[in-house]
Amino acid sequence: MDFKNLISHCKEYGFIFPSSEIYDGLSATYDYGPLGVELKNNIKQYWWKSMVQMHANIVGLDAAIFMHPKTWKASGHVDAFNDPMIDNKDSKKRYRADQLIEGYAEKIEAKIMKDVTKAAKKFGDDFDEKQFRDTNGRIIERQKKIDYAINTMNQHLKDENMEALGALINELEIACPESGSREWTEVRQFNLMFSTQLGAIAGEEGKIYLRPETAQGIFVNFLNVQKSTRQKLPFGIAQIGKAFRNEIVARQFIFRMREFEQMEMQFFVKPGEEMKWYDYWKQTRLDWHKALGTPAENLRYHDHDNLAHYANAAVDIEFKFPFGFRELEGIHSRTDFDLKAHQDLSGKKLQYFDPAINENFVPYVVETSIGCDRMFLSQVGQTLQEETVPDADGKESTRTVMKLHPAIAPVKAAVLPLLKNKEELVKASKDVFKKLSAHVLCQYDEKDAIGRRYRRQDAIGTPYSITIDFDTLEDNTVTIRDRDTLEQKRIKIDDVAKVVSDKCNVNNIL
Ligand code: ATP
Repeated sequence: MDFKNLISHCKEYGFIFPSSEIYDGLSATYDYGPLGVELKNNIKQYWWKSMVQMHANIVGLDAAIFMHPKTWKASGHVDAFNDPMIDNKDSKKRYRADQLIEGYAEKIEAKIMKDVTKAAKKFGDDFDEKQFRDTNGRIIERQKKIDYAINTMNQHLKDENMEALGALINELEIACPESGSREWTEVRQFNLMFSTQLGAIAGEEGKIYLRPETAQGIFVNFLNVQKSTRQKLPFGIAQIGKAFRNEIVARQFIFRMREFEQMEMQFFVKPGEEMKWYDYWKQTRLDWHKALGTPAENLRYHDHDNLAHYANAAVDIEFKFPFGFRELEGIHSRTDFDLKAHQDLSGKKLQYFDPAINENFVPYVVETSIGCDRMFLSQVGQTLQEETVPDADGKESTRTVMKLHPAIAPVKAAVLPLLKNKEELVKASKDVFKKLSAHVLCQYDEKDAIGRRYRRQDAIGTPYSITIDFDTLEDNTVTIRDRDTLEQKRIKIDDVAKVVSDKCNVNNIL
C-alpha cells in the first residue's frame, strides 16, 4: 500500500493521530490511538520478554527522563550531538546536509538499478549482477560518482568541516528537491537536544535537557543495578522509554519524530570481549525481527563508515520502509567511553570488581537500540495490503488486510453474532465475549452483514473472528475464521479461549 494511504488508514482506524490536531497539529509529533497503543504495547512486550525474561543476566530499569545536566556534558551530547543544517535561500526549506548528499547518491543508485533490472530481464537465468556491475562502463562511472560523494562527505563529517560540506553540495550541483534552486546558505551545526528550566532557577544554571537517548539513564545507574542484583559480567540492563530530539527535518510520519520511544539494552562485558558480544547481538537482534515474520529480504545490515564519538564498531539493521532501506535498529560497541566519562566528571568510581583476577576495571559496553515507533511502522508497512479474495457467494472482491503476527495484533479476536435481532444469538455471543475478554483483547460487533464485519476486522489485523450462529444454540460450537487463510472451522465454545490465547501467545516466537 502506498505511504499516503497507510497514513490515512492509521488515522481512520484509530492507530495514529496527528498530535493536537484541532490546532492543526504539531510537526513530527503523533498520538497513538486505541488500536495503536495496543500494537505498540505488544511490540514492547515482545522486546521486553525476549530481552529481560529470556535472559537471566539481563535486568530492567525505568530511569527518569530528566537527568543531571552534567550527564550530557560527560556523554558528549552537549558538544557533539549535532546535525549539519543547510537552508535553501529560494524555497526557505531546511535540510540536513548529509541527507541531501545521500539523496544525490540514492538517485544515481536508482539509475544503476534500472540498468541492472533491464539487463537481468534480457539475460534471464545467466545474469550475474556482480559481474555486470563490475564491467559495465556506464555503471562503473556512476558508482564512482556515488563513492566520491559518500567518501568525501564522511571525511568532512569526521573533520567537522562544515565549510567543505557546503562546498561539496555546490560541487555536486545538488538542487533543492522542492524548488530546484541551487542557492544554498552555509552549513551550520545544529544541536538536537531540547532544553528546559528546572524549578525556579533561571538562566544557564537551571538549564536541563530532555534525554535524547535512554542509554545514559542506564550508565549512571550501572553500579546501583550491579550491586542490588549481584550480577556478574557479562550482564545487561534493558530500558524502554521516551527520547527527544529536535530533528532538523522530520517529514516521514512516525519514522522520524521529535518525541519518540526507544527500547535499549546496554550489555556490560570484559574489555577485549566486546567484539564477540557485538557479533552475538548483531545476529540475535536480526533473528528477533525474523521470528516476527519479517522476511529476510526486507532486512539488511549496514556497517557504519562514520563511527560516533563513543563507538569502535557499529552496524544498523535496516528495514525496507515504503521510502527505501533505512535504519530500524542500531548495534553499537560503545567501549568504556560512557562509564569512563561519567566516572571522570562525577568523581565516583563506576567499576566492576572481578574476583577471578582480583581487579577493578571499567567494563566495555555493547548496545542494542531500536526505535519502538520505527518498529511499529515497519510492521504496519509490511503487513497492510490490498488483496483479492473469494466472496461468500464465490465472486472475487478486494479487501484491505493487515497481516500482523497474531502475537502483536492489537485485537486478537472478534466475537460476532450472525444476526443482531435474534436475542438468543446476541446473548450467546455476549457470553463468549465475556469469557474470552478475560484472556485476550477482543471486540464484540453486531452491526452490518457478517461479510462487512469480517472486512472491518481484516483492516485492523484481527487474526481470528468467532461467529455465533443457530448451530451454536444446538451444539455449543462456533466458527473460527482465520484472517489470512479465510479458513473457517467449528470448535467448541469451551475451547475458544484456549485456542485463541494459544495461537496469539507471544511465547510462540520467543
Ligand atoms: P538516524 O540516522 O535515522 O537519525 P540515529 O542513528 O540517530 O538514527 P540512534 O541514535 O542509533 O539513531 O537511535 C537508535 C534508534 O532510535 C534508531 O535505530 C531508531 O530506530 C530510533 N530513532 C532515532 N531517532 C529517531 C526519531 N527521530 N524518531 C523515531 N525513532 C528514532
